[in-house]
Amino acid sequence: MTTLKAFKYRLYPTAQQQILLNKTMGCVRVVWNHNVEVFNNFDKNLTEQEQPLSTTQLKKKFEWMNEVSAAALQQKEMDFKTFKKNYFSKTRKKKIGRPCFKNRDSHQSYRLPNQKFTLNDSSIRLEKIGKVKLIVDRIVPVDCKFMSVTVSKNVCGQFFASVLVEMEIIHKPKTGKTIGLDIGLKTFLTGSDGLTVENPTYFRESQAELKQAQRHLSHKKKGSLRRKKATLNVARIHNNIVNQRKTFIHQITAKLVNEYDFIAIEDLNVAGMVKNHRLAKSISDASFAEFYSTLSYKAAWYGKEVVKVDRWFASSKTCSCCGWKNENLTLSDRIFECLVCGLKKDRDVNASENILKEALRVSSAIRTPSECQSV
Ligand SMILES: [Zn+2]
Repeated sequence: MTTLKAFKYRLYPTAQQQILLNKTMGCVRVVWNHNVEVFNNFDKNLTEQEQPLSTTQLKKKFEWMNEVSAAALQQKEMDFKTFKKNYFSKTRKKKIGRPCFKNRDSHQSYRLPNQKFTLNDSSIRLEKIGKVKLIVDRIVPVDCKFMSVTVSKNVCGQFFASVLVEMEIIHKPKTGKTIGLDIGLKTFLTGSDGLTVENPTYFRESQAELKQAQRHLSHKKKGSLRRKKATLNVARIHNNIVNQRKTFIHQITAKLVNEYDFIAIEDLNVAGMVKNHRLAKSISDASFAEFYSTLSYKAAWYGKEVVKVDRWFASSKTCSCCGWKNENLTLSDRIFECLVCGLKKDRDVNASENILKEALRVSSAIRTPSECQSV
């Protein structure tokens, strides 16, 4: 089995390269916007429809477009064709809006096919730009097939290269271990075997920093240079938070798929929970949704199993030993005490044990239907 995987690196272009990168992104934008304009000019009453100019024709019209990579322009042209195909597809399930114009403030990027770039130890050679310095903090496995590279610039003016490769997935060795996970606000994760992962304190710290920066921004006059600076500062902190969260989630999910074969989690309805404002901040901090999706795809890659149990299943209220239900359990009860069998356990550990039990029950029912019928 193969999968597509992206390796993203921060780029350190020289001042001259930055100019060229910006120019390329600008030209790509022109290609996109031209196509959008023609698309939006469509009028069913007209007998002759305007056709968008090809990149070759655009280059004849705007000579400065010749300075940048032709492949980048062609890729954008292809993107629009794909968009158009999806837009008119009768089988598409998702609604697609009309195409939008891109301006300088929107996310800036361009893509090159695999023949137009080479990734080296400490640089990447991009067509028309040359060798751009980068730090390889993640190594692309040797036998990968390079597909494309997307060069992007964020609001803070930092450049990145995201290299897309097709790679063979090698299943992780089986450990024979299973775990149930209780996801919470205070402790990010409690495992049925006693594993605990706390919410990193830096989430809170960055959040406080963000709040202050936002307040700072709100006092600045519209259109002023100080406002521009303050906006950039907010964007920078926001960017940090996103990165911190990504790193955190990648670390725990990597540990989980390495150490366990079977992972049971509760299917919390994240969207429903975030509506509750008091909890909203912590929940978005913990970013359960991202955790779920990352864990699921990693498990699929490495041949491990993730089973979600119904969110209405009373994992916290049920005794993991005898099955008695404590209907009066409140959020403030940190210890679960069973009045029937006398079990006394940390609330989250008890819950995670129930989640594991339920997941094992559900998945074995799926696997062996014949056995279930004969009972
Ligand atoms: Zn009990």
